[in-house]
Amino acid sequence: MNIHEYQGKSILKSFGVGIQEGIVAQNPDEAVKAAQELTQQTGTNWWVVKAQIHAGGRGKGGGVKLAKSLDEVKEKASAIIGMNLVTPQTGPSGRKVHQVLIAQDVYYPGESPVKEFYMSVLLDRQSGRNIIMYSTEGGMDIEEVAEKSPEKIHKEEIDPKVGIQAFQARKVAFNLGLSGKSFKEMTAFVSNLYKAYDTIDASLFEINPVLKTSDDKIIAVDAKVNFDDNGLIRHPHYAAMRDIREEDPTEVEAGEHNLNYVKLDGNVGCMVNGAGLAMATMDIIKLAGGEPANFLDVGGTANAARVEQAFRIILKDPNVKAILVNIFGGIVRCDRVAQGIVDAYKNIGSIPVPIIVRLQGTNAVEAKNIIDKSGLKVYSAIQLKEAADLVNEVLKKGI
Ligand code: GDP
Ligand code: MN
Repeated sequence: MNIHEYQGKSILKSFGVGIQEGIVAQNPDEAVKAAQELTQQTGTNWWVVKAQIHAGGRGKGGGVKLAKSLDEVKEKASAIIGMNLVTPQTGPSGRKVHQVLIAQDVYYPGESPVKEFYMSVLLDRQSGRNIIMYSTEGGMDIEEVAEKSPEKIHKEEIDPKVGIQAFQARKVAFNLGLSGKSFKEMTAFVSNLYKAYDTIDASLFEINPVLKTSDDKIIAVDAKVNFDDNGLIRHPHYAAMRDIREEDPTEVEAGEHNLNYVKLDGNVGCMVNGAGLAMATMDIIKLAGGEPANFLDVGGTANAARVEQAFRIILKDPNVKAILVNIFGGIVRCDRVAQGIVDAYKNIGSIPVPIIVRLQGTNAVEAKNIIDKSGLKVYSAIQLKEAADLVNEVLKKGI
């Protein structure tokens, strides 16, 4: 699960991490009120209007604007709320902006220059440890830094059993070239950021930029958080931060029925049990000249109701030209699944695309009989190769 910048910052603040203060607003009037309140809290007289969507690169797409008066706050909030924001991370279709964060301006001039750093905490699956990744090259695309000047990206490995040690926090601050007050602030920033990451069961906590202000404070200007979904059950408070407006509606619906569904760009819908078989099925579709339209794992209990729901979800995608059902009857019996498919087909009424069914395992032959005798536009196969060839055939002939 992902959350918005303003929610990520509220979590950081609760762990004692310095942040660019802000107040979220749903409309231009609320934005002006938020700006006034922020001035009372922080003394700021400039503000930043920031689009809240689950994607980065907002600045580049025109979703982050500086406002130097309340009129400008209103004007910029009006322009950003409701806009379709296209950034390097949203893809060409962009994302609709529902709300903005009105934040204090933190790039004010002062005794020392402001500096932007990059910092993230993430799980390194290879070593089974957490990593703090950081760089002096903040504010920009970190992938670009990694490509052009990889030596500017530092990594600090943290043993999850003992957590971050004081010497490690000092090493980070030192490598970022800090001294004096900002050095001390950075050690606290890193330690508390790690604590936040660890406590909330995040798989990624990325702050880009981390800012050294002109009066040597260290604060988070941005916040991107990925939660480990398997840990969310321990954190109902954070789970409630989910914003389903930011998610694919079909994926949300699939999740409500406990189906693992990921939409893809191809033309062959897949209904499979087990993630490994789902991946093999996608491969076989490609081999046969098609492109998978989705990943869909119906899980262990492929009964009629689930099969019907899975069909309904796959059919929401207008690109689907054929559906391949590939189920291995290990715990489930193939004849039960076949009956489920026939029932689902009848319940849905008309399915406008051909269906190729491959059932293998317990009672596979009985299952094929049920499908063949049903009189429906369903093609059955037992071998995977047969199924792939059938997919190829229906795609070519359009039957
Ligand atoms: P992103 O583009 O989605 O990563 O959004 P960020 O929150 O990182 O903001 C993008 C950029 O806006 C930052 O890199 C800054 O250059 C700029 N920005 C953010 N906050 C302020 C601020 O308080 N004052 C000024 N002048 N610029 C800001
Ligand atoms: Mn950013």
